Parts: sequence; C-alpha cells; structure tokens
Amino acid sequence: MKVSFDNTEIAFAHKSDYELKKGYWLFKMVSNPLLVKLGKYSVNFALALRIPIGWALKKNIFAQFCGGETIQDCAATTKVLDQLKVGTILDYSVEGKDRVEDLERTTQEIIETVNTGNDNQHIPFCVFKITGVARFGLLQKVNEGTALSVDEQAEFAAVKERVDRIAKRAFDTGTPVFIDAEESWIQDAIDDLTHDLMANYNKASVIVYNTAQMYRHDRLAFLQKAFAEAQDKGYHYGVKLVRGAYMEKERDRAEEMGYPSPIQPNKAASDRDFDLALELCLQHIDHVALVAGSHNEESALKLIDLMTRHNVEPQDKRVYFAQLFGMSDHISFNLSHAGYNVAKYVPYGPIKEVIPYLIRRAQENTSVKGQTGRELSLIVKELARRKQS
Ligand SMILES: Cc1cc2nc3c(=O)[nH]c(=O)nc-3n(C[C@H](O)[C@H](O)[C@H](O)COP(=O)(O)OP(=O)(O)OC[C@H]3O[C@@H](n4cnc5c(N)ncnc54)[C@H](O)[C@@H]3O)c2cc1C
Repeated sequence: MKVSFDNTEIAFAHKSDYELKKGYWLFKMVSNPLLVKLGKYSVNFALALRIPIGWALKKNIFAQFCGGETIQDCAATTKVLDQLKVGTILDYSVEGKDRVEDLERTTQEIIETVNTGNDNQHIPFCVFKITGVARFGLLQKVNEGTALSVDEQAEFAAVKERVDRIAKRAFDTGTPVFIDAEESWIQDAIDDLTHDLMANYNKASVIVYNTAQMYRHDRLAFLQKAFAEAQDKGYHYGVKLVRGAYMEKERDRAEEMGYPSPIQPNKAASDRDFDLALELCLQHIDHVALVAGSHNEESALKLIDLMTRHNVEPQDKRVYFAQLFGMSDHISFNLSHAGYNVAKYVPYGPIKEVIPYLIRRAQENTSVKGQTGRELSLIVKELARRKQS
C-alpha cells in the first residue's frame, strides 16, 4: 500500500484547534536556539531556588511531550493513541540517579509499567535505560574492564539482579521490553547485560530488545556479529534501530580526550547505515524482530519498501515503527492508518525529574532544523484546511 505523510487531517485528528495553535508556538519557541539556552538555564535556576514553576511547565512543554506524572495520568493519552491504532510505550523518564534507594525505586516503577502492559493490549512494549537502574560510574568501570572492588562486584551483581527482575516480569507477562542505547563509553556494558538477558528470555520469541545507534560507524558490523551469535546460541535477536541522541557529547568527549570519534563522518553516512541496518534485519527476519525508532520519512518509506520486497505483512509483529509522543504525528498516524504497527514513547514522571528529557527534546528540535520546520508547516497546513472546511 502506498503511504503518504502529507495527510494532516489524519495526522492531527486528535488535536483541537487550540492544541494545534499551542503546539505551533511551542515549536516556534524551541526552534530558537537562544530561547532554548535561556530556558534551560532559567528552569534549572528556578528549580535550584525552589521557585514553583511546575504549573507553567506542565501546561506547555510537558503537555506536548509527556503523558503525565504517573502511569495513571497516562491512561488518557493511551486511550487517544489507541483510537488512532497506535500503541503506547510507557517511558519512566527519571535520569541521573546514583543512590541505591533511587535505583531500586526506578526498578519497581519500570516493573509497574510492565504490569500495566500486561493488563492492557494497547501497550505493546515497555522501555528502560540501564542508567535508570545502575550507577553511571560503575557501568563505565565495567565498560573499561577495570577490576572492580569487592563492594563494586556486589553492586554490579545487584544491577544484574535488577535487570533480570524486569526482563523476567516482561517474559512472564509477555510484554516485550526495549533497553535504550546510551553513551558509547558505557554501551559495551549495556550490550553485554542485554545479550545475557536475550540468551535467557528470547528463546521462543523476542522479549528483550537491544538498541543500535547507527550514527556510530561500528554498529553495522556489531549487528552482523550479534545476529550470528544469537543464531549460534539459539535465541532471537530484538533490535530497536535509531540514529542516536548524543552526537555532540560523543564528538566533544572524543576530541577532549584525544581518541577517534565513534560517530560517522557525516549525516549521509548515518542515513546509509540506518538503511543498511533495516535491510540486514529484513534479511534475517526469521530470527530478528525490528523496531525503527525514527522521525525520518525516507527511513519509514524505505522500511515499507523492504517489507514488501521480503513479503512481510504490515501487521507482522516482528516489525514496528516508533516515534516519540508529541513529535512526527504525521508519520505515526498515517502509518497506522495504512495498517502498519506503530507505537509511541510516552514519557512520564514527576515534572522536576523529567526536565533533562524535556531539555533534550527542546535541544533536538533546535538542532534538527528540518524537523521543527516540518512540524510548523504541517500545523499551519492543517489549521488552514480546517478553516476552509
Ligand atoms: C522511538 C524512539 C526511540 C529512541 N531511542 C533512542 C535510544 O535508545 N538511544 C538514542 O541514542 N536515541 C534514541 N532515540 C533518538 C534518536 O536516536 C534520534 O536522535 C532522533 O530520533 C532523530 O533521528 P531520526 O532518525 O528521527 O532522523 P533525522 O532527523 O533524519 O536524523 C537526525 C539524526 O541524525 C544523526 N546526525 C545528524 N547530523 C549528523 C552528522 N553530521 N553526522 C552524523 N550523524 C548525524 C544524529 O543521530 C541526529 O539525531 C530514539 C528515537 C525514537 C523515535
């Protein structure tokens, strides 16, 4: 079936005129790098001084990009998405915690998202970041292969127990779970933990998904090796393909520390490897399940074409398209309208804790100029269409 992303009536069916106008001003604001920079500092400053700004954030940027502060708050969003045949991926977006009590609390919350998925067919996946349940410094040490002290060995054993608890619950309830990709200097540790879980839980079907960032020049070779190893060891490989969210940070660190950057030389190389990775997944579709986590229209069309060529039906559960809530609705809802499997990350959490996520989204919309421009022009087009009709 031919899919077009131009239909704004389908893309914005769930938004009132008021919501569309609010979205317009929000994207307009985040498209200004100076405003985003100022916003970032003033929000952090206000929080440090305990100035109550939660209500202002909640009504604006939070409402555009998040489902609420709790799982219960997200129910309304899940319902709207479901009416448009799009699944919800509850994403507890609390980051940067190091204390054991916090890591444990996050683990419990992620398990709650899995439990919610079990009771709700509209939640096809759950997701978490390993840094939500493990101390960053510990992961970095494991990644470097530095010998761990006795205490650190116990700490890492606790991390393994936490991720196993989440994966086991996912297995028991049949709600697959994604493990997000993060900075390259902890990613080997994340990949190893994820592959161990896959070997345990992905024997019959994919319960645990890894994430591959195709802005890294080594990921295509990584995937080829990982698929072969999974086949040797008798488990299915689940992979969420993304381009990657930490490009500037990766490049800056490599330059500062004097090692070759893990990032591709240019955008075209990231796009090429993303496409090749899609193709590789489709070639191995008997043992692989794939989620394309992207807001790129060409990538979505490429995947549709590959599915047709490999005789994979739009409704085949081994292939999913995924976008973030509040972004690229024209891709999500036009794809679901055409019968493809689509789900959206719905971030949630206490406003104060979700701010790093929101700042990343704002920065992304500033740096990905084309994307913000497209969101704005689609809203304008839809408002004009409504006025005419
Ligand atoms: C459902 C979902 C899940 C995600 N999960 C993760 C995750 O687990 N980990 C993670 O890191 N990110 C994740 N992301 C974010 C993702 O990596 C991208 O930052 C974002 O989606 C933008 O890329 P795009 O494919 O939408 O398309 P585009 O807008 O076409 O691509 C933008 C991306 O291309 C790359 N790029 C841009 N310029 C250059 C350049 N000069 N050289 C090389 N590469 C360049 C960058 O990765 C940039 O973000 C996720 C995104 C989605 C939608």
